[in-house]
Amino acid sequence: MPKLLTRPGSHPLRSLSRTAQSHWKLILAIASLLLVEAYVHRRNYDVPRPSPPLDAPFYTGCQDPVLNTTARESAVFMMLARNSEVKGAVSSVRSVQEQFNDNFGYPWVFLNDEEWTEDFKRKVGKAVGEGADVKFEVIPKEMWGYPEWINQDRAKKSMQDMKNRGIQYGGLESYHHMCRFQSGFFYDHPALLPYKYYWRVEPSISFTCAITYDPFVEMARHKKRYGYTTALWERGQTVPSLFRKLSLFRNEYRLPNSTLWTAMIDASWMPWPFRRMLAALRNRDERGDLWNMCHFWSNFEIADMDFFRGDAYRAVFDYLDRDGGFYYERWGDAPVHSLAAAMLLQPQELHHFSDWGYIHDDLQVCTFASTEQEKARGVKIPKYEDSDGDGRKELGCRCKCDDKARIVEPVCLNRIGLTTG
Ligand code: GDP
Ligand code: MN
Repeated sequence: MPKLLTRPGSHPLRSLSRTAQSHWKLILAIASLLLVEAYVHRRNYDVPRPSPPLDAPFYTGCQDPVLNTTARESAVFMMLARNSEVKGAVSSVRSVQEQFNDNFGYPWVFLNDEEWTEDFKRKVGKAVGEGADVKFEVIPKEMWGYPEWINQDRAKKSMQDMKNRGIQYGGLESYHHMCRFQSGFFYDHPALLPYKYYWRVEPSISFTCAITYDPFVEMARHKKRYGYTTALWERGQTVPSLFRKLSLFRNEYRLPNSTLWTAMIDASWMPWPFRRMLAALRNRDERGDLWNMCHFWSNFEIADMDFFRGDAYRAVFDYLDRDGGFYYERWGDAPVHSLAAAMLLQPQELHHFSDWGYIHDDLQVCTFASTEQEKARGVKIPKYEDSDGDGRKELGCRCKCDDKARIVEPVCLNRIGLTTG
């Protein structure tokens, strides 16, 4: 047997290769074990599809809203806006009123961190309509601004840094206050306290189908707590440590495993023990697995505010708020609401409004049903680009997709959709 000692003058690589040659069986065995470990680890993050499905549309096609005039829930429309957004506010209100609320008459609350101008109140009040229940409210200072434990110098430095790196809204202080308000305070605003459900509306959005049934009544009837139109990818630089913080919260409070949480994870192919080293990278949990960046698009939400008002959500928000990531990073209310819902709710408590077309900025959701073949392949929501002229069933009522707005790819929706079958 040749000695493994390096001879004087021999190259260290050569000796390494000799070691490998003589130990190849051992090396192969270790590599296989690592591969099997990684494979098993990945398989642990498969999301089982429940049968029967847990979240069908409340209705498909058009209903007769007039038949539905008596039952009402405790519910309100809420729009946070700036005075300068009056045009967008009017167009959103018109869309909601025409597609839905002229038939149902739910009240509106408009919130602002500053006093409303007469111009805003007059134009928006007119858009809601004569005799409607409309309130224009100001947000109390305690709900909008730095809490005392935030180091404002550090916050401003981080914001400047985010601005330099081109992170959208990262350098805009008011945007950080807004995200914190929408994450942890709106549901305690005195104007919203009398209500259980809320429907969030932003300026310059529109609904592209007629909504001919009462979603609040249906949410209550089906025990739904959080409703959304779509899910998409968050930009990772805005929330580098959020996912790990929430994962640590789950450990600390010993929250049980849930398929919704699993659906948010893109498990790593890196085998143990190297996987743990990945935890130092952004958007990963302490085990080294990656958040797939999926989150619900919270510019539209219909939710049971008692979910947000409950002890569990409040504990999550306080944990995050103490950490300071609303200012030192740019945590948005969308990932905060979404990951909290994934952590604290059961899949059947979420509702996908798959029958509602919706536009925000230049992105839209359209409402075609998956074909039978797609369903058989486990694709719950089709790629809309393929949907021209192939006879797909329209889920909504009198829908008109926009010609210009881009259509959101249903990748995140399909992953999250696995949880409800
Ligand atoms: P994006 O949807 O994340 O691109 O951000 P937007 O600019 O649409 O803001 C989200 C929501 O917060 C909208 O309803 C805005 O009107 C509102 N908003 C953002 N910043 C402020 C602010 O400084 N003051 C008030 N009152 N509302 C704000
Ligand atoms: Mn917006």
